[in-house]
Amino acid sequence: MIIVMEKHTADENIERVTAELVRRGFDVHRSTGSDQTVLGVVGRVDTLDTREFELFDGVQEVVRVSEPYKLSSRTFRREKTVVTVRGVPVGGDQVVVMAGPCTIENEHQVFETARRVARAGARVLRGGAYKPRTSPYAFQGMGVEGLKILRAAADETNMATISEVMEISQIEGMLPYVDILQVGARNMQNFNLLSALGQIRKPVLLKRGMSATIQEWLLASEYILSGGNYDVILCERGIRTFETYTRNTLDISAIPVIDKLSHLPIIADPSHAVGRRDKVMPLARAIVAAGADGLLIEVHHDPEKAVCDGPQSLYPDQFTRLMDELRIIVPAVGRTL
Ligand code: PEP
Ligand code: MN
Repeated sequence: MIIVMEKHTADENIERVTAELVRRGFDVHRSTGSDQTVLGVVGRVDTLDTREFELFDGVQEVVRVSEPYKLSSRTFRREKTVVTVRGVPVGGDQVVVMAGPCTIENEHQVFETARRVARAGARVLRGGAYKPRTSPYAFQGMGVEGLKILRAAADETNMATISEVMEISQIEGMLPYVDILQVGARNMQNFNLLSALGQIRKPVLLKRGMSATIQEWLLASEYILSGGNYDVILCERGIRTFETYTRNTLDISAIPVIDKLSHLPIIADPSHAVGRRDKVMPLARAIVAAGADGLLIEVHHDPEKAVCDGPQSLYPDQFTRLMDELRIIVPAVGRTL
C-alpha cells in the first residue's frame, strides 16, 4: 500500500501517519520527492481499511498497489533514483560505462585493462573474484587477493569497482574493496543473499536471472530495498530463449519497460547477452539508444589468453572505438557520457 501525502504538507502530518503505521506493526519506507512525500507501507495491509488513513491530515490518497512490487515501483517514487558510486551518478543524465575483465587473473592483466578502459572513458572497473562457473572444474576466482588488485588498479585510474558476490559470507570481506556488489544472473532469486544485501549501505547491481520475468526481477529487488538499502541498479544481461546462435537473447524491451515500471537505474550487459565480441558493439549502441543508464562490458587486454569469457571480451582498441561511437549516440538521446 502506498500513501501519497499532499504537496508541501507539514512534516508533523507525515510523522503522525508514520507513527500510526509503525504502531500497527507495518514497515514504512519514506520517499521524499521535490514537492511531495510518498510512504510505502509493507506488511499485512490486506485487512486494513484505507479510509482510516485517508482521514489523516495531509493525506492526499491511499493506493493499494496492484503490482506485487512496491518500493521499486514508480507509484512509490515518481522521480528516478540516482545511485551515487564514488561521486559517479548512475541513473542521472550521464550514461555510465563499467568495463573490465570477466575475472581477475593477475596484477598485470587488471592494471593493463584498467588503464586502457579508463583512458577511453569507463568510470567503473569490473572484475570477478568469485565466479559462478557453470562447471565446478573451471577457474573459480582469486577471492580477496583478486579484490585487492582490482581496488589498486581502480584507485590508480580513478575509477570505482564492481565485483560479484555469490554468498552472504563473502559480503564483509568484499566491502573494503568493492563499491558496487553485483548479484549475478544465477543468484537473482537467492533470497537470503538479497536480504543480507538489504542490510548493507553500498550499491548493489542486480542482474536479471536468465529465465526471470520482469516482475520476478523487480520482486527480487524488493528484498534489497525492503531492508533499507535503496541503492539498487538493475542490469539486463540477456535471457534464455530458443535461439542458439547467441549465448542469450538481449531483451532490449526490458529497458523502456523497467523505466516505466520502476524508478531504479537500469543498465545492460551486451557481453553476456550475445556472448561474442563481434556483436557486442552493435548491441551496446542499441542499449544506449533505448535509454539505458549505463553499460557493463567485458574488456581484456589480451582476450585470447583470458581465463574466462575471452571470446566475448573486447580488445581495448575496440572498446575505445565503441566509446567514440557512444559519444555520437548519447547526445542524440539527450544524455551525456
Ligand atoms: C559476470 O558479469 O561476470 C557474470 C557472471 O554475469 P551473469 O551473472 O550475467 O552471467
Ligand atoms: Mn563473464
